[in-house]
Amino acid sequence: MFFMQYKKLCEVYEQLEKHSKRLDKTKFLSELLQETSKEELKDIVYLSKGRIFPDYDETEIGMSSQLVIKSIAKATGINEESIVHEWKKIGDLGKVAESLINIKKQSTLFSHPLTTNKVIENLRKASKLEGQGTVARKVDLVAELLTSASPLEARYIIRTILGELRIGVAAGTLRDSIIWAFGKVRIEYDEKKDKLEIQDREKYNEILDEVQHAYDVSTDFGIVAENLAKGIKKISDMSLEVGKPIKVMLAPKAEDIKDAFERCGKPCQFEWKYDGFRLQIHKDKNGKVSLFTRRLDNVTKQFPEVVEAVKKHVKGKEFILDSEAVGFNPKTKIFLPFQTVSQRIKRKYDIEKTQKEFPVEVNVFDIIYYEGKTFINEPFEKRSNFLTKIIKDERWKLVKARKLVTSDEKEAEKFYKDALKIGMEGLMVKNLKSEYKPGARVGYMLKLKPSANSFDLVITGAEYGTGKRFGWLSSFTLSCRSEDKFLEIGKVGTGVKEKSGGGVSFEQLTKLLKPLVTEEKGKEIKVKPKIIVEVVYQEIQKSSNYESGYALRFPRVIRLREDKGLDDVESLENIKKYYAKQKFGK
Ligand code: AMP
Repeated sequence: MFFMQYKKLCEVYEQLEKHSKRLDKTKFLSELLQETSKEELKDIVYLSKGRIFPDYDETEIGMSSQLVIKSIAKATGINEESIVHEWKKIGDLGKVAESLINIKKQSTLFSHPLTTNKVIENLRKASKLEGQGTVARKVDLVAELLTSASPLEARYIIRTILGELRIGVAAGTLRDSIIWAFGKVRIEYDEKKDKLEIQDREKYNEILDEVQHAYDVSTDFGIVAENLAKGIKKISDMSLEVGKPIKVMLAPKAEDIKDAFERCGKPCQFEWKYDGFRLQIHKDKNGKVSLFTRRLDNVTKQFPEVVEAVKKHVKGKEFILDSEAVGFNPKTKIFLPFQTVSQRIKRKYDIEKTQKEFPVEVNVFDIIYYEGKTFINEPFEKRSNFLTKIIKDERWKLVKARKLVTSDEKEAEKFYKDALKIGMEGLMVKNLKSEYKPGARVGYMLKLKPSANSFDLVITGAEYGTGKRFGWLSSFTLSCRSEDKFLEIGKVGTGVKEKSGGGVSFEQLTKLLKPLVTEEKGKEIKVKPKIIVEVVYQEIQKSSNYESGYALRFPRVIRLREDKGLDDVESLENIKKYYAKQKFGK
């Protein structure tokens, strides 16, 4: 079979990196997709977002900067210290590899051209390795690629491994380029004017909806591209597959009950907001139950009691449910905060013991699929009522989430107060008429919590401390989200504890961030965006110190949000809105 040269893909990456306009990017990508053979289309789609698997598959390559440095050393024969030295100077390890391969290439005469297939195969192999000798074999697989790589190819191989391609391709751009490439609508793009002429707007919008829906049910742009290339019917026929997780619907904040009614309509449904973790429950035709977190990690093995409860308390052969699992103290029957149960999510051993110590109760609040029928386009009212037909509540095992449908502000306020008294985080407010939008924060459901001034932000940098904090990272750069980029909005050290135990500590953050380092200069490091913290603040200010254009006054870390993914990081758009509200005294 004929595979695309990796060089060709890298040249497109370079174009994408150079051009910041979304329409330019869409054009480059769509041209690339059109030139790709159908056998390779899926892989090229994944690689164009810097991934090697579809979005529903959270498998990671699992190589830190340190391991990458070992691979570069192995491929170039340059010692690790010199590479680290270069890294401190240049910052980006991709660029370091590029310049070192360049020096080396001048002295060698011969190399095999790399295909995209070889690159993706080696990286996939690396991600699947387990057990003894894994580290050395990972280093070898990457070194093998680097040995054949040109300088430009080395840059992008390294960046793909570190999960930071830096070419600014967001999900929306990729979706549009798939439509431009295979949607069979005539699109004229005037680069000079940065304007788009679409011949049949209505048809284009129809295809856009179909393609978005196809992604929503599959969480896989690779298969979407492959099917659209075969015709729009293939796309329309795509549906959910039980056992394969989809992205969960997300919730923006509501200010108060009044605001919630304004945005969700009257009447609307209020529900207790449990302080647990999101659990997507699948049961397939063969009776197999699978459980996924909001980041789509499979945690079935960690929660055997939930598997049992689902089999026992939910009627039906085949379904997908959305729920929140909450830990409780088995003796006192008091709900425990998320942090206490979070250790169970990662547990691979002693599962029975921790299960007894920290059992969870499942609170089901939505249904996505039932007996061959997709429910995501049904109104929430119908979905929520349907749960009554299929769930037999059993306290401390599996129940329907507590709800109240009302148009009355006083009644809602009382429900809110009572929920807080019982120890809930607040309420969720849901529009009765709306559909289920996977992965989107569209406002079909809102969250209502008393601590309004808090954001979930991602750590993108840090600085080593001095004195008694020597050896630890002690100041952390926070960033918000803007499309697929992360923009700095401030630094924080307050709220982080000196010692481990009881809250986030410097030691813990240092351990979490070290493997994520992408650049290092003196005491300062940059890290791959991954670790999310909830930060309270007193006020949002305009600021030219940070690239977002804003800063937070008196920020303080209140907790680590291990359950959250990058989609959950507060958007700049929302921060602007909060700033405006604050200015007008609301
Ligand atoms: P937050 O984590 O603060 O962004 O709030 C949204 C999260 O609250 C959801 O992703 C769920 O994990 C959780 N949650 C708790 N109770 C509910 C509920 N009744 N309906 C929907 N989500 C809930």
